[in-house]
Amino acid sequence: MSETRVAIVFPPPIHPTGPPLGPACLKAFLGRNNPTADVKVFDLNLAHYRQAIRWMQDGRLKMSLRKTDHDSTARGVARAFRFFEGQEGLDTFLDIRAYDEAASFYRSFETVLNGLFENFCRKFSAGLPVPPLARAYLLELIEPVRAFRPHLAGFSLLFSRQLFFSAALAKIMKEDGSRVVFGGATLSVMPRPESLLSGSPAAGDSAKTSERFNFSRFVDYLLIGEGEAGLSALVRRFDGGESEVPGLVYLRRGRIFSNPVSAALDIHELPLPDFSDFPLADYHSPVPVLPYLSSRGCFWGRCAFCTHQKTYLAYREEAVDRTIRRLAELKTEYGASHFSLVDEMIHAHRFKNLSARILGQGLDISYSAYAKPTNRFDGALFRTIHRSGARVIMWGVESGSQRLLDSMRKGTRVDVMKQVLEAAHKVGIWNLVFVMFGFPTETREEWQKTLDLLDGLGESVDALSKSRFLLLEGSDILKDPARFGITRVMNRPNRDPVSIAYDYEVSEGLSQEEAQQLFEERASALSRHGRSHFFPLYRDHMLIHASTHRP
Ligand code: SF4
Repeated sequence: MSETRVAIVFPPPIHPTGPPLGPACLKAFLGRNNPTADVKVFDLNLAHYRQAIRWMQDGRLKMSLRKTDHDSTARGVARAFRFFEGQEGLDTFLDIRAYDEAASFYRSFETVLNGLFENFCRKFSAGLPVPPLARAYLLELIEPVRAFRPHLAGFSLLFSRQLFFSAALAKIMKEDGSRVVFGGATLSVMPRPESLLSGSPAAGDSAKTSERFNFSRFVDYLLIGEGEAGLSALVRRFDGGESEVPGLVYLRRGRIFSNPVSAALDIHELPLPDFSDFPLADYHSPVPVLPYLSSRGCFWGRCAFCTHQKTYLAYREEAVDRTIRRLAELKTEYGASHFSLVDEMIHAHRFKNLSARILGQGLDISYSAYAKPTNRFDGALFRTIHRSGARVIMWGVESGSQRLLDSMRKGTRVDVMKQVLEAAHKVGIWNLVFVMFGFPTETREEWQKTLDLLDGLGESVDALSKSRFLLLEGSDILKDPARFGITRVMNRPNRDPVSIAYDYEVSEGLSQEEAQQLFEERASALSRHGRSHFFPLYRDHMLIHASTHRP
C-alpha cells in the first residue's frame, strides 16, 4: 500500500507558551486509525516567532518599539524571549516586576509583528502585491512543510485570527500540488463556513468582500465539527470518496456540498495526544505546560452568550481513573509536571473525584482548570484540590449583578461566588476571574456592582480577564434576542467571513456604543486587580508562578 503523507499545520499567530492540543489529538488519532499514512505536525506558530527574531537580528525584519531603533528593539525582543524561556533563571521569571517588564515588551512585539503579517497575508492570499521580503518570509516559514511533500496539508484553526496566515500558507502549498483542508473550532462556529469556498455573499456582505475571501483557489476542503473522524476519513478518501467524509464541505463543478458531521466519538476511544513532533523545550515558558482535555463540551452548557458548546458535538467526560492514567503517561513520556486542563469547566463533583484520585495515586503535578463558582465548592474541597496540585482556577464570574447573572443563565449567585473565590484564595489557589461588561440591558448601576464585587474580593482576585459583551452567532441570545431586551440585530459593516459578531440595539440600559465607551474609559482602572495583568493572556505563565510561589 502506498503511503499518504499528511501535514498537520498549526498556523500563527498565537503566543507560543505551550504546544497546541488539537494537532496533537489529530496526530494520535491518525497514527492509530490510518496506518498507511505518514503524519507530521508542524507548529508554524512557534516557528513564526522564532523566525521573526532571527530576521530582526540579521536586519531583514526591521521593527521599532517604544521609540528605540531596530537593533535595540531586536535586542529587547531577544531578551524577552530568553526571559520567557527561563534562560535568565526561574527566580528572575518569578519576580513579578521583571516578569511584567518582559511581558510588556513581548506583548508590544507580538502585537506589531502579527498586525503587520496579517496585513501581508490578507493581500498575499487575495493575489494583491506584497513586498518581496514578506513573500520570502512566508516561503521560509512554510519550507519544512514543503520539504515533507504532503499529499494533504491540514490547517488547524483554533482562533479566527489564524485564518489569513493559513490562507497565505495554503496558497503556497497548493502551488506545490498538495490538497489543502481547513478545520478547527473557528470554522465550527462560523455562520456560513461554506462562504469561504463559494465566494457567494452572506447577508449584509458585498459581492466584492466575498470575492476577496473566496479561498477555493487554494483550499479544497473545510472540515466542520470535531476533527478526528473527519480527517481520518478524508485521509483515506481524498481522491474521489469525499461524499463519505463526515463534516466535509467541498466544491464540485461549481456546487458546494456539505456532508453531515459524524456522531460524537466515545471519549474513551480517543488515543493519548501525541506531542512527539513538538519541540517542547522551545516554547516560551520556562517549564513545559501540556494541555489536556478530560471532557468535551460543557457540563452546564446554558450560558446565553456562550458559543463554546457549538464547537463540540455533545458533552461527555472521561472516567476519572482514565484521566489520571493519561496525565501520568504524559508526565512519563514528556517529562512534564505542569498541565493546563482545558475542559470548558470542571464541575465540583468531578473536581472532587479528580483531586482525590490524583492524591491517591501520588501523581505529583501542578495544574490549572476552568470552573463555575457554585456552592458545591467549599473550604474542605479546596484543601483537597490544592493538595492534588491545582494552583490556578479560572472562574466565569461575569457580573456582580444578580439580575444580569440570571438573565445570562449562569446559574450562580453573587454572594456564593464571593465565598467560593475567598475560600479558594485562602488555601493558596490563584483565582483568574473572567468578567463581562455591557450585557444587554445592563445599567450603569449594575456595571458598578461588578466593580464593587471585584473591590470586595480584593486579593482573592489573582488575575482579571475583562471583556465586553459580544452578540455572537450560535449563542442562545441570537436565537431569541427580544427576550434579552435586544430590539434589532445588524450585520457589522465590512465584516470578515470568520466574524461571528453582530451589532445590536437594546430597549433599555446602556446602548452598545455606550457600553463600549464606558469599557474603554474604565478598562485601565481595572488593571489594579490581580498580580499581573499579563496573566490572563499568558495563562501557562500564571500556572508556573502559582506553582512555585512561596508566600
Ligand atoms: S460560559 Fe462556560 S460555563 Fe457557561 S456554557 Fe459556556 S463554557 Fe459552559
